[in-house]
Amino acid sequence: MKITVVGTGYVGLVTGTCFAETGNDVTCVDIDANKVQKLSSGQITIYEPGLEKLFERNLKEDRLHFTTSLEEGIKEAAVIFLALPTPPGADGAADLSYVLGVADQLGKLITDYTVIVDKSTVPVGTAEKVAAAIARNTTVPFDVVSNPEFLREGVAVDDFMKPDRVIIGTESEKARKVMGELFAPFVRQGNPVIYMDEKSAELTKYAANSFLATKISFMNEIAILCEKLGADVDMVRRGIGSDDRIGKRFLFPGIGYGGSCFPKDVQALVKSSEEANYDFKILNAVMDVNEAQKLFLIPKIKAYFGNDLKGKHFAMWGLAFKPNTDDIREAPALYMIDYLLAEGATIAVFDPEAMGNVKQVMGDKISYGEHQYNCLENADALIICTEWSVFRTPDFNKISTALKNKAIFDGRNLFEVSRMSELGYHYESVGRTPVV
Ligand code: NAD
Repeated sequence: MKITVVGTGYVGLVTGTCFAETGNDVTCVDIDANKVQKLSSGQITIYEPGLEKLFERNLKEDRLHFTTSLEEGIKEAAVIFLALPTPPGADGAADLSYVLGVADQLGKLITDYTVIVDKSTVPVGTAEKVAAAIARNTTVPFDVVSNPEFLREGVAVDDFMKPDRVIIGTESEKARKVMGELFAPFVRQGNPVIYMDEKSAELTKYAANSFLATKISFMNEIAILCEKLGADVDMVRRGIGSDDRIGKRFLFPGIGYGGSCFPKDVQALVKSSEEANYDFKILNAVMDVNEAQKLFLIPKIKAYFGNDLKGKHFAMWGLAFKPNTDDIREAPALYMIDYLLAEGATIAVFDPEAMGNVKQVMGDKISYGEHQYNCLENADALIICTEWSVFRTPDFNKISTALKNKAIFDGRNLFEVSRMSELGYHYESVGRTPVV
């Protein structure tokens, strides 16, 4: 099938590449000429495990193309996916200007029946708005489908190739057939393609992300309580996670959720609720808890240094909002960095993939290690913000030799408390007994 993907970021590039992998002829459109130039010449623009191999293969086999021209990109396309940004507007609601702007142009460009698919995360009612924007400029028949994306950065290729489920929101029989055919290769193991109306599909995405964010904030509050009451959150987590109704995943406490999705999607659902005259009480609390959680380690660090961080030098491991990605949007590490700098501290950082992106934001306000150990030199303490695997079994001799104090503040609970006690570290984590 001839497919176009408009927007070639984390979702668009994975979507386009994976559809090419199943034999489709895919053109990806992006307004960022630099990105298109790099991708056309075989240079991948994001870090995503497994993507590069598929990208190279499909580029070589001429099933994957890139252009800045929407007109050229949609020629003869049976399906056009919109994988455009929907960032929060000033009031917290999703900014639909990218999606509606492209919809407006599509109305002027389509020449034959086309299925136009919202892959971006958009509020309930957006499919109707997209359809209206297209219809303003054309009499050519088309259908608008809501097909929210559930891929997780870091495992995006696996998630796309073997989705737990595919949600297709449309009431058009014709569009349903086209979408079913396109997704059939991805659900051969029997995972469901769930068809529903557009509005339910749109809300499903927000409900999923908001539920997961709620799970995280809930566990973060349990962790706070564990510290206050002398319980161990690891035990509580295992104790409740073995209940099938709760499940083992997403129960790890830490220094808050970040990324380009959870913060904005929770906020957007709260805003949609307000517009529908409903006060979504739980989600307001989820956001409040997460805001505070990003700086959860700060009081512990301050207490250790007698409340004065001026002139202190910190090493920080992990900058990406989660492991296996270079994405730093809303990353808790950045909030920590801002706070520590404002207190007069200096920071040397290391992240396996996100350093380039952080340099663009932070410049020379902080220094950058070439590897995880040389950023420790002469630091007063190590702070861990992202649970990259490479940090999980480090060389503790190297750490203690490089650090001025044997002090680790771990926002992701990477190490066993008992081990850190044996090794003689001052070790503070989230929801567990501190080693002091
Ligand atoms: P992104 O910022 O990585 O990519 C968006 C791309 O769209 C950029 O390359 C940008 O240059 C391009 N773009 C902007 N305006 C354009 C235009 N007029 N024409 C063509 N291209 C244009 O965003 P993303 O993370 O891929 O997210 C896209 C959507 O998918 C969002 O709604 C997001 O909420 C949703 N989503 C994201 C994820 C994720 O993990 N990143 C997962 C599921 C859903």
